[in-house]
Amino acid sequence: MADVKGFLKIKREDSVYRPVCERVKDFLEVAVTRSEEQSREQGARCMDCGTPFCHWGCPVGNYIPEWNDLMHEGFWEEAFELLSATNNLPEITGRLCPALCEYACVLGINDDPVTIRENELAIIEYAFAKGLIRPRPPRTRTGKRVAVVGSGPAGLAAGAQLNKAGHNVVIFEKDDKPGGILRYGIPDFKLDKSILDRRISLLKEEGVEFVTSVDVGSGYKVKKLLAEFDAVCIAGGSREPRDLKIEGREFEGIHFAMDYLTQSNKRVLGEFVPADKLIDARDKKVVIIGGGDTGADCVGTAHRDGASCVGQVEILPRPEECRTDDYPWPAYPMLLKTSSSHEEGGTRHWSVLTKKFRGKNGRVSALECARVEFVKEKENACPVMKEAAESAFDIETDLVILAVGFVHPERKGLLSELGVEFDAKGNVKTDGDYRTSLEKVFCAGDMRRGQSLVVWAISEGRRAAYFIDRYLMGKSSLPEL
Ligand SMILES: Cc1cc2nc3c(=O)[nH]c(=O)nc-3n(C[C@H](O)[C@H](O)[C@H](O)COP(=O)(O)OP(=O)(O)OC[C@H]3O[C@@H](n4cnc5c(N)ncnc54)[C@H](O)[C@@H]3O)c2cc1C
Ligand code: SF4
Repeated sequence: MADVKGFLKIKREDSVYRPVCERVKDFLEVAVTRSEEQSREQGARCMDCGTPFCHWGCPVGNYIPEWNDLMHEGFWEEAFELLSATNNLPEITGRLCPALCEYACVLGINDDPVTIRENELAIIEYAFAKGLIRPRPPRTRTGKRVAVVGSGPAGLAAGAQLNKAGHNVVIFEKDDKPGGILRYGIPDFKLDKSILDRRISLLKEEGVEFVTSVDVGSGYKVKKLLAEFDAVCIAGGSREPRDLKIEGREFEGIHFAMDYLTQSNKRVLGEFVPADKLIDARDKKVVIIGGGDTGADCVGTAHRDGASCVGQVEILPRPEECRTDDYPWPAYPMLLKTSSSHEEGGTRHWSVLTKKFRGKNGRVSALECARVEFVKEKENACPVMKEAAESAFDIETDLVILAVGFVHPERKGLLSELGVEFDAKGNVKTDGDYRTSLEKVFCAGDMRRGQSLVVWAISEGRRAAYFIDRYLMGKSSLPEL
């Protein structure tokens, strides 16, 4: 630990975003890159705790205090080597992770936590900028063939690890380009797609084969897949959207968030969307139903599309801004999140139930709403939702985006053709070794754990790769996590 008093002398410096008036006019990343000096200074705030809870909080088990210190000392290459030992996509988590680690940072008990996520980003971007990252194909090949179905973060991490172990890896993707939700879901203002392309090029140079526009289970039969590969890792995500089946759902102008965001990603890439398919927020009164991260991405996208006003409706009450006794340190707390998109405008409505869509000439024109409260009827019982008396009100709208989550992985095609078993939540069931009910078929990511986070998908991909390698070779030199 280079500076034992660093945490006393230096204050946390949060990410800086481009001015709102400038950034809402484009889809370029909102965050401004921190200087090398600032990163090294922020690294000095790490106390190198005897028991690093941040390491426990991070799903990929990043060696946080160690690389904070290396970066602070200017040993960037060593910091990069250590970071890439546990994380296949630090340039992605460095941009998108909600930083579970920072909520477990010991400094966070009575001060602001270390900027762990930004430090991670600084290390990986330094390594790319200085040419420290070169393709590292395996020295020898095992002769085993592994198919990974799905190229989201789980599939990319699994593919990278299995390739490292010397297997011949083919990643199948039904979209025209690899990346999963990183490509078609998360807006460019949070993740510029050149960042994703840079990593995919590297994986290709290391020997991973990508086969896109192939839907395994319909276009490409599972029988063929199982015959051609020694093991299969299914990492197809969890994309069945939750619907809001209330009166008026059939009106035009009501869309699922992923349809809106995917289309927006494609338009940013310069793809043409025919007028009859276009979900256009320009000059519309947009209402997003669902107060989570997907909803926030829709808020930012709608502003950039030129919406006349944007509202976001959430049925749950407004979360607390600081930790409560329900979420003691170092647990990840459910707190109010104000994303960069929320800073750009719009109204957030909390504790609001959408009861009915009203329409005019076949198109949605308003939401009929009521306020709700959550009442504990008995001590220690779960709160029950109750409609507040005489609280009905309308919100005018002509474009509604449903961002109320995902129920489980899509069943049609791959999963029904394979005939895998499901768990009680409807996700693909596996044993402790990530193996499905089928002999050589493993599963990772949202398809196994339900919609989650990029960092969890990476962690799952890495773990599945370890178990697949052990299955194929009898032992594995890959890390178990
Ligand atoms: C809008 C949105 C924003 C998000 N923002 C964040 C964020 O900021 N930070 C964060 O940590 N998490 C975020 N998440 C969650 C995160 O993106 C997911 O948890 C993560 O992408 C899951 O990774 P995955 O690899 O399991 O699945 P996915 O990313 O869903 O990838 C699965 C891939 O498999 C492909 N596939 C499926 N079936 C087949 C088949 N039969 N044949 C071929 N290919 C197939 C799909 O086309 C897809 O490309 C967000 C999620 C959404 C929806
Ligand atoms: S991946 Fe996420 S949880 Fe892990 S160190 Fe990075 S920001 Fe923290």
